[in-house]
Amino acid sequence: MAPPEVESQIAPPLVNCAQCQGMLPQGLGEIECVLCGAMCRVTHQPTVDALFNEKVQCPICMTVVEAGTSQRPVDLTCGACSGAFTLKEKIAKVEIQCPSCEANLRIRPRPGKRELTCPGCQNSFNVTF
Ligand SMILES: [Zn+2]
Ligand SMILES: [Zn+2]
Ligand SMILES: [Zn+2]
Repeated sequence: MAPPEVESQIAPPLVNCAQCQGMLPQGLGEIECVLCGAMCRVTHQPTVDALFNEKVQCPICMTVVEAGTSQRPVDLTCGACSGAFTLKEKIAKVEIQCPSCEANLRIRPRPGKRELTCPGCQNSFNVTF
């Protein structure tokens, strides 16, 4: 059986590629731009510190467990019940406004261009990150 999963509350910042200004895949460290292939170094100390010090509740016994690492996902073991669980990275979402009906759509940004369909007015439009 797979260990239960808990989603982190802290999302790494969304950063643009230094070379092509496209959006980089979310993460910290050496990140490869999927649009132009440049290797970009993403560092954000406040996020690293926050990830390191993040406290999450054990999904089994509800004891608070400290992450102790900025790695995500990371397998943690609860000190109280010895239960194992996975602390997953938080997925950043952005709000996009539909150009036709001005409804706000919350989507997960992905580098490059893609087509979205507004659930309200069924209009399709392109977004680029
Ligand atoms: Zn790039
Ligand atoms: Zn526990
Ligand atoms: Zn719409």
